[in-house]
Amino acid sequence: MEVLLANPRGFCAGVDRAIEIVDRALAMLGPPVYVRHEVVHNRFVVDGLRAKGAVFVEDLDDVPDGAVVIFSAHGVSRAVRDAAARRGLTVLDATCPLVTKVHLEVARNGRRGFETILIGHRGHPEVVGTMGQYQARDGVDIHLVETVADAETVRVNDPDKVALVTQTTLSMDDTADIVALLERRFPNVRKPRRDDICYATQNRQNAVKRLVETCDLVLIVGSSNSSNSNRLLEIALKRGVEAYLIDGAAEIRREWLAGKRRIGLSAGASAPETLVREVVRELQKRGARHVGEAPGIEERVTFPLPKELRGVNRTT
Ligand code: SF4
Repeated sequence: MEVLLANPRGFCAGVDRAIEIVDRALAMLGPPVYVRHEVVHNRFVVDGLRAKGAVFVEDLDDVPDGAVVIFSAHGVSRAVRDAAARRGLTVLDATCPLVTKVHLEVARNGRRGFETILIGHRGHPEVVGTMGQYQARDGVDIHLVETVADAETVRVNDPDKVALVTQTTLSMDDTADIVALLERRFPNVRKPRRDDICYATQNRQNAVKRLVETCDLVLIVGSSNSSNSNRLLEIALKRGVEAYLIDGAAEIRREWLAGKRRIGLSAGASAPETLVREVVRELQKRGARHVGEAPGIEERVTFPLPKELRGVNRTT
């Protein structure tokens, strides 16, 4: 049995930045530091920051007056931002800049009187935050489309004044059918200048597509609430390869490995490399003789930290 590691895999620039923001805020302010929602969707990361003194809350009402609150990488609605301002809370914003780019597009559409169609998953915090950027006026609104069936039935006021945006972590395969249908229904639909699906999502998906060509089992390290990790899993499953999403090495089941010759391993954008290494060690204990890195592109994207935190060192 051998193990082939996908490239690229794991942390993206947006996740790196978000974790760094919480960590440096803890170093600068001392615990507790309040974070609205899990800063990134990974149990290991969240538990680690909680142990250092981060307090994760779902509601701003749970943040005490005068405290500092960090917004998660998924972004927040205007209503949440306004509520924090009304309460005089100091905000450190860990929203990924690529999510902010979508927010700005949505707000611009609203100002120009375009209705927006957002392709995404209902209830995901990024989608809630993006929907909440739109200021509806004169019956012009933002519509969430999750499926091809939704795209067939979505109703707009003026088919010539419709713009499209997508959740950053969707799979290109999933959106292609929906986008094609919307383009048929609304030939003048305004699309973003560049796809909203982010570079990290795209690169990790491409890497898994290459992996499945030669592997008979694929393991994706990531938490079950991580959208981009689930999309990586779907890519493998849709191509007929046995695949599982695991939070860590302890979840690997003996029966998955029976008779397998090559195991492909990747990690969602919110899963740390240390968990991947633990999985590799576990697979070696269970008989993997060779571990190799699949060829892939090298990512050099970085996003700047908020200026308040630039001179601050990490906690450890
Ligand atoms: Fe940002 Fe993309 Fe990472 Fe999401 S997956 S945090 S959009 S870089």
